[in-house]
Amino acid sequence: MSEIINIKANTYSVTIGSLANGGVGQYVLSNYRLSDTFILVDEHTQKLCLPALEGLFSSEEGVEKVEKILISSGELNKTLDTITSITRHLSSCNASRRALLINLGGGVLCDTGGFAASIYKRGIDFINIPTTLLSQVDASIGGKVGVDLDGLKNYLGVFNNPRAVYIDPEFLKTLSKREIIAGFAEVIKHGLIADREYFELIKKHDLEYSTESKERWSELIARSVEIKNEIVLSDPTEQGQRKVLNFGHTVGHAIETFFLESESPLLHGEAIGIGMVCELFLSCSVTGFNEDLRDAISNFILANFQKRTLEQSEYDQIISNMYADKKNQEDRINFTFLSDIGSPLVDQHADEAAIGNALDYYSGL
Ligand code: NAD
Repeated sequence: MSEIINIKANTYSVTIGSLANGGVGQYVLSNYRLSDTFILVDEHTQKLCLPALEGLFSSEEGVEKVEKILISSGELNKTLDTITSITRHLSSCNASRRALLINLGGGVLCDTGGFAASIYKRGIDFINIPTTLLSQVDASIGGKVGVDLDGLKNYLGVFNNPRAVYIDPEFLKTLSKREIIAGFAEVIKHGLIADREYFELIKKHDLEYSTESKERWSELIARSVEIKNEIVLSDPTEQGQRKVLNFGHTVGHAIETFFLESESPLLHGEAIGIGMVCELFLSCSVTGFNEDLRDAISNFILANFQKRTLEQSEYDQIISNMYADKKNQEDRINFTFLSDIGSPLVDQHADEAAIGNALDYYSGL
């Protein structure tokens, strides 16, 4: 039997390992009525991930009463319209205030489902079963749930924790290489903000998923979850230290928003990859990050991520998107920079010319 890793978050626990052995079935059966249990899926997780979850309940009486709620995948559907559709579905099934919503999917689905559960009848329980690398190492934990508003990232939402999180690396088996690499951006971020030794391990990690490599993936995911969890526990509502998790995200979100409605949108993690390169560049001038180390890390990121061409004529719009970032205060763009690997500094600033130079640096690599 493969190993199960348990990590205690503030009000819930994160279980990493095989879904069948991790206890999710027992947890649901002990705490909820199957006729008041709902599984949120998108068209991909319905096909690829739902059978594994349903298999856990297949012999239970009343299993046919577990209702599936299907939403469309993709960041463009991380909207209030989707929240309306989920909550209408819950309402049409007479979901009670003691209902459970199981979010089975990536970060978009966990963020959206978590928000819908948080506001339906003033809040019902939800658990996350994240199925992409990005959602396993990041989006499913930490208690931030919400949706975008007119393309502005995560503008509507609340802090609200799931009742439990169950992570099975085996879901990565059906995930495209592109999505795995995108999720890897947040893994790289965790190494850079918190742990040099972990970053060295990350550099050697093989990005191909196979059942044989499941244990190595479990360990990698567990270390990322631990890092995020420790930071979140120290500052659950992002008054200060939690902002270290935003490293790469000020530039990254602006670029993600810029390409969102283009013919070839970037995945969230891909945008964060560019964001980290640019923010490492800014870290050199603002917080004294070593330039040779910056170049080495940037080259490592670019060796994994496909390069996206950024035109100088696009910089104004990208920088303007940064001004709309909800993390800003007093009309100044707010960044997290590094002075070294493992030494992040929050509430940093850079002027527009420097940001333009950072975008040039990325383009010139
Ligand atoms: P995603 O949720 O869009 O999922 C990517 C694609 O993979 C989707 O098409 C999905 O249907 C598909 N998919 C999911 N599981 C699969 C599987 N096992 N096999 C095959 N296909 C599968 O993207 P994501 O990268 O998981 O999440 C990105 C989102 O997460 C962004 O909206 C971002 O803002 C959010 N996020 C939230 C937090 C947080 O703290 N709440 C943190 C980081 C990111």
